[in-house]
Amino acid sequence: MTYYLLRFFDTKLAVFRGIGNENLLYIALFATFANKKYQKSMKDCKGNHLLKLFSHCPKCGAEAFVEDTEKSKRCEACGFVYFMNPSASTVAIIVDDQDRLLAVRRSKEPAKGTLDLPGGFCDCYETGEEGVRREVMEETGLTVNTARYLFSLPNMYHFGGMDIPTLDLFFLCKVQRTEGATAMDDAGEVLWLPWEDVRAEDFGLKSISLGVSRLLQMHASEPATFR
Ligand SMILES: [Zn+2]
Repeated sequence: MTYYLLRFFDTKLAVFRGIGNENLLYIALFATFANKKYQKSMKDCKGNHLLKLFSHCPKCGAEAFVEDTEKSKRCEACGFVYFMNPSASTVAIIVDDQDRLLAVRRSKEPAKGTLDLPGGFCDCYETGEEGVRREVMEETGLTVNTARYLFSLPNMYHFGGMDIPTLDLFFLCKVQRTEGATAMDDAGEVLWLPWEDVRAEDFGLKSISLGVSRLLQMHASEPATFR
């Protein structure tokens, strides 16, 4: 039995090796173990759940706005169904030619004073790539030339007394020039951190902290990705 189990996993590994992307194996294993626990913690978030706070129908204003499923509410007066979906948000990973990661210090709540990566909510009608480019410009003054999607993580963003569910999209960004990065907007300070000084626990937002720990492992296993 053990033999067949080992053969099974070996076959799985061979498939990943065949694809030629070692990160894929790491990402797949990571997704299976750490992500499940993380996703459960998001679901169990004790904050003010958006659906609970919405007491009236946003379409007709009726009070008969009742729970429909765990992700929706339904109006008994007009039949309108509101689905709670995450807001798209972007995260920029920018590395300079000395192999240092660009971090910013959060100047506003939530997690004020902790480290963050540049980024923020996507505007309506904007692509993720456009969103990350705009946010990097707004927070650091740097111009993003290319943005390559790496992975995504769900988060709960505590804002205005409510927990806003987000889906954070992580992009590896190449900038025109790394010189002259200046802290603006939500960023209180800009820091270039050598990878050995990057600590996931210094990043205050849960998804960013988990994302940074994933980036650290990617950097250790395949540093060329960030060059
Ligand atoms: Zn209604």
